[in-house]
Amino acid sequence: MHIGVLALQGDFHAHLTQLQRLGASCGEVRSRVQLARADALVIPGGESTTLWRLLEVLELEQPLRAWLAEGKPVFGTCAGAILLAREILGPDRAGLGVLDISVRRNAYGRQIDSFLAPAESTAPGFEGLECLFIRAPVFERVGPRVEVLAEVGGRPVWVREGRAMAATFHPELTHDLRVHRAFLELASGSTSSCGSSAPSATVTPYASSSAPSASLARSVSVGGR
Ligand code: GLN
Repeated sequence: MHIGVLALQGDFHAHLTQLQRLGASCGEVRSRVQLARADALVIPGGESTTLWRLLEVLELEQPLRAWLAEGKPVFGTCAGAILLAREILGPDRAGLGVLDISVRRNAYGRQIDSFLAPAESTAPGFEGLECLFIRAPVFERVGPRVEVLAEVGGRPVWVREGRAMAATFHPELTHDLRVHRAFLELASGSTSSCGSSAPSATVTPYASSSAPSASLARSVSVGGR
């Protein structure tokens, strides 16, 4: 299995390093040919408006949409999570729609308001996860089929729907490999460690305005989306 990392802008190199630490076959994606070679894709953090622009200029948006439509595994962090959302707020526009979520950009404020915080509830096996937020977005709505894998401040920060995963924080910028390992497991189709064991006692179900939220404890079935 070869993991592509979209390498147009942002901290793609940190994702490659993390994947290499886990022994994964991985490489940069800057062209249609490289995208076609990828069995799974990571879309890194950076600046989502710049990513949209570069996808357009490099004529990669339609190939990416077609690649995603095949249901291949994808993981977006921060700006990458914004791209994968159904609805983007601030300014409002449609995302790629791979995850049934609404995401508000820059919801914590400016770059200077970036912070590190421990996840207060997580899927089993992810206790103590430190989450680094850099001019991060917030998942304002998560659809009924979206699994919440971690929360900070009572809000979902790591979610999954089928074989698509998104985090508002930057797991590629810490030494903790668990989030990337979970994506590799998801991508390879092996039983994911996310939420697959006994329900956690620390779970706080996320109350969404428009969706009965998935609970952190619910078991996850790896399947199509
Ligand atoms: N604020 C950026 C955006 O809106 C995301 C920041 C990040 O990826 N760290 O795209």
